[in-house]
Amino acid sequence: MYKKSLISLLAVCNFCLAADNEIVFTESMISIAERTNYERTSTFAEVISVIDVLEERSELVHRERLLITEDGKDVPILVLADPAVSTPQQADESGKPVIYIQGNIHGGEVEGKEASLILMRDILFGDKQHLLENQILVFVPIYNADGNDNMAAGSRPSQEMSPVMAGERAAHGRDLNRDGMIVEAIETAALYEKVINRWDPDLLVDLHTTNGTWHGYSLTYAPSYHTAGDPATSAYTADVMLPAIQQSVKQKFNLDFGWYGGFDYRDWPPTELRTYHHAPRYLVNNMALRNRMAILSETFAHDRFYKRVHAANVFVEEILEYTRLHGEEIQRINREADARTVQRASSTQVIENGVQFEMIPLEETLDLLSYKYIPYINDAGDTEFARSSEIVTIENVLNFNRFEAIKNSSIPNAYVFPAEYSALAAKLRQHGIEVETLVEDETLRGEQFLVAAMEAQRFPLNSHQNNVLRGEFRQAEVDFSEGDYRVSMDNRLANLIFYLLEPESDDGLGFWNFFDGSLVSQLQSGNDAVFPVFKVQP
Ligand SMILES: [Zn+2]
Repeated sequence: MYKKSLISLLAVCNFCLAADNEIVFTESMISIAERTNYERTSTFAEVISVIDVLEERSELVHRERLLITEDGKDVPILVLADPAVSTPQQADESGKPVIYIQGNIHGGEVEGKEASLILMRDILFGDKQHLLENQILVFVPIYNADGNDNMAAGSRPSQEMSPVMAGERAAHGRDLNRDGMIVEAIETAALYEKVINRWDPDLLVDLHTTNGTWHGYSLTYAPSYHTAGDPATSAYTADVMLPAIQQSVKQKFNLDFGWYGGFDYRDWPPTELRTYHHAPRYLVNNMALRNRMAILSETFAHDRFYKRVHAANVFVEEILEYTRLHGEEIQRINREADARTVQRASSTQVIENGVQFEMIPLEETLDLLSYKYIPYINDAGDTEFARSSEIVTIENVLNFNRFEAIKNSSIPNAYVFPAEYSALAAKLRQHGIEVETLVEDETLRGEQFLVAAMEAQRFPLNSHQNNVLRGEFRQAEVDFSEGDYRVSMDNRLANLIFYLLEPESDDGLGFWNFFDGSLVSQLQSGNDAVFPVFKVQP
């Protein structure tokens, strides 16, 4: 067959020429970025036209629908495997890990989208076919499809001006990378249903581009910060996998990749590098609560477009080179984290877990690459800085790249809430969490949270005025009725359930205003405001 013979010819090809020097790429496989010498980035329709050709000519591609967006775009999921798989059951039976590559969550950060198109083509028809050994690859090259097509000049103000036109960050006003807990965007709901819960990837790679810091790296990365999750998945990503990939990129491509973070150049030379946030509203962090690994990738906004795409491309390639060889280890670590999470529910002792966190430095300092800043006194007598074009190494920089709990709470056996909160049951099910109903009336012993104050946060997130709830737990015996809801913690998603439902959680449903209606009216009436989710204790 045409498709198969091409692939077997290409197995030994280094320069995308078959044995008889026949060129195997057709124009339709070459992305718009490549065809325009990186003057343009692909529209949604241009992404689809490349994907259509790849799918038509290869037997190794299975295509599914992620969603139809508000603007009517039919966003694809591409599953690449050899032999091909068309169901999660087949993926499971193959025993191979599933690696999920996601581009364009922020519509203006287009490098992951372009790199995904190049990489899928090179895997299917070029010299990267071996990346389908031992693993199944799921690609969503254009996650925020509507944001991508809302292109304008100047939509990326801190970025080197290529391409001139790029999409907008949000999808219809929502930042998809702040929606991981409250799940209000149809994109997030679809991602959980069609990718995360359906294909259960062992590793998620989320592809971004930075917004401004002039560090000296072609690309920066972060693991999934574990917050209240099992620490093993994050520790392996940060301590084993990412350092190995960083080294192989340096050896093969002579590119410097390093830890994601920012610093204040006005304290030149910087003494600390600080990463972003631990909260699971960010999809990469959300994965740790699911006992799965994740990598945040940020190409450097001040590089030219072609260099940014190259950096994203080789990063994903080297991640896949790593996972091809270490897939079993990754699966084992994830499954062991699942088992520990489930086993904890049968403990007779009270176990606590963090609900609020602060950023801390690693013991080991780092040598930071940065563009050099030159301090000077301006005409008004104040200190200012000019940025030079020289990259320098700053030694002994504190690497604020971990989080530590500053507030804990006990892990219950189960959470129970009244039947009137059917919207809460539906919200939990969107995350893939099993919710049961009580089959008879029951009196349950455990803990109730009395809300004393709702501390409004200063900066709105996705149009929310978020609240951190303050108050205290008290022991209680409460009557529940047949039909009320129960969420068991005997579940591999128990860490996610905990973070969603703990009243003091700094990124739970309470923080996202889910209970505001009930709590505000209780507080206004002068009564104790009882958090509606009850904790059943052993
Ligand atoms: Zn981003």
